[in-house]
Amino acid sequence: MRWISEPSEERPRVWQSLLAKVKRTIKEQPLRKLQTIGGRQLEFLYANEMVGDDKIELKAGVAFCFRRYHELIQDLVRGAWVRFVRGLRENQPLLGQTVDLDEFMFGSERADLSAARPVLFDFQEGRCFYCEGALQSRVEVDHFVPWSFYPVDLGHNFVLAHASCNAAKKDRLAAYKHLHRWCDRNVEQGTELGAAFDEVGVLHDLQASWRVTSWAYGQAAAAGVHVWTMGAKSVPLDRRWLGLQGMRL
Ligand SMILES: [Zn+2]
Repeated sequence: MRWISEPSEERPRVWQSLLAKVKRTIKEQPLRKLQTIGGRQLEFLYANEMVGDDKIELKAGVAFCFRRYHELIQDLVRGAWVRFVRGLRENQPLLGQTVDLDEFMFGSERADLSAARPVLFDFQEGRCFYCEGALQSRVEVDHFVPWSFYPVDLGHNFVLAHASCNAAKKDRLAAYKHLHRWCDRNVEQGTELGAAFDEVGVLHDLQASWRVTSWAYGQAAAAGVHVWTMGAKSVPLDRRWLGLQGMRL
């Protein structure tokens, strides 16, 4: 309410000063502390000296490892934060032993995707996106580009699948034939799909979904990663993927 009652010209100033403060704090605190182990400063992720005034430069291979081991690193860091916060004596009376601190600090890992389900069911005419079998019970909304690659929920990345197909795919990219279908769907029906997502309050950004998917398959192609076809089977990525409409950006 305070923000609303302030004169509008005040807001940019307050905002700018908050930004400067956050920037200073990040510069002085976590960036150095992240690389301080056992009291020693090690520069294993980046040089502690900034590039210019506001950038750090990750060392070679660090970005790749962050991406590749994202889930593992995230779990380790969250675990350490939770232990630290729980360990502070001042927090003990507030927390007790029963609060789910992880949930409180980091929120739910994934949003409820059920709002997208009826929309996808209509667009897929009641068929599984992957095996094209009729969808009956045990149906799940799947992230076409897995959540572990890109942990943001955008509508055009969703497909509806049998729980069994979804479980078989795990966190792998889907093979060429599935990508072909995903591209066709979003070229032909992307706009209508976006309008239907608006009606049920599902976030979407078709351009971002194109970029993310193209990026993810580019990474897989460069690394020679196998992609999932069906069941337990995976194969090398078919080179024709780059020719699909929407993939060559
Ligand atoms: Zn299926």
